[in-house]
Amino acid sequence: MLQQTRVEAVISYYERFRKQYPDVESLAKADEETLLRLWEGLGYYSRVRNMKKCAQVLMERYNGTLPENKEEMMKLPGIGSYTAGAVSAIAYGLPEAAVDGNVLRVLARLFAIRDDIRDLKLKKELENTITDFYQKNRISDPEYISDLTQALMELGATVCLPSGRPLCEKCPFSSDCKACRESLTDVIPFRSRDRDRRIVDRTLFVIRHEDDFLLHRRPSEGLLAGMYEFIGIDRKLNREEALHHLKDMGIEAKELNALPPSRHVFTHLEWRMEAYEILVEELPEFDRSEYILTDRHQLQSLAVPSAFRTYLNHYGLRKGDKRK
Ligand code: SF4
Repeated sequence: MLQQTRVEAVISYYERFRKQYPDVESLAKADEETLLRLWEGLGYYSRVRNMKKCAQVLMERYNGTLPENKEEMMKLPGIGSYTAGAVSAIAYGLPEAAVDGNVLRVLARLFAIRDDIRDLKLKKELENTITDFYQKNRISDPEYISDLTQALMELGATVCLPSGRPLCEKCPFSSDCKACRESLTDVIPFRSRDRDRRIVDRTLFVIRHEDDFLLHRRPSEGLLAGMYEFIGIDRKLNREEALHHLKDMGIEAKELNALPPSRHVFTHLEWRMEAYEILVEELPEFDRSEYILTDRHQLQSLAVPSAFRTYLNHYGLRKGDKRK
């Protein structure tokens, strides 16, 4: 949940999630719709799907508990080196490394490493530095390992801040830190530019029949898999073109109103959306496995990605919103 999200923003999600799924067994049995809805707004939906898959494997093979071994943990769905390292070190006190973006920044500055922090080789080297440190100093006290792991994460999150703004005067490493001593904190860590993001222009159709909305269910694989969306195409259409397109779909618009444009940024993709509200008197026969005609009450229980937040808000379709 915390990936690219602040702790304060995640707390309410975490609490709701834990209430719905208090243990591994309940998560393994989770119904997909509810699972996605509880994740709505956090993005990266594959994480929550992997959590469910992971819970299922734990139920089938490990009696509902996590194996107490980093390598074994990394064989589970959705668990990579960082998560396995963090659970091993923090929960089980094992001498394993957990290097996330924050820890990477602290260590890069501490040793004045100028290499690109996006390079996985650097991450691996720093993981080895930590495990070597435990080994050479014969450190095996679980409490010490757990505390040190959390301390490094916390130091990165609250003191060794990014963008050249570290609070070195408050840092316990200040006398040893190379980047601090040599005034290199504004150039370390070095991060190469993000890969270019693909921009996709889209046109959305918010199709309304009386007080109901016609939504489309996205394919079960790929981006936002299995979630509901306002019908759309990956092209910018003016009013005329939009009306033509709707006609091709068998939809006769009684009224077409422009809605505010919006954009949504995914990791490697950006949607730039124009949208129209389409009022219809009749709807053609549609494939019910792909489309759903839903009233506002039912819509609130469907998993609709936050990419469509502008339009959900426009119609007051977020939970607890009483607007018509
Ligand atoms: S001394 Fe400054 S740059 Fe070095 S680790 Fe501490 S906060 Fe980061």
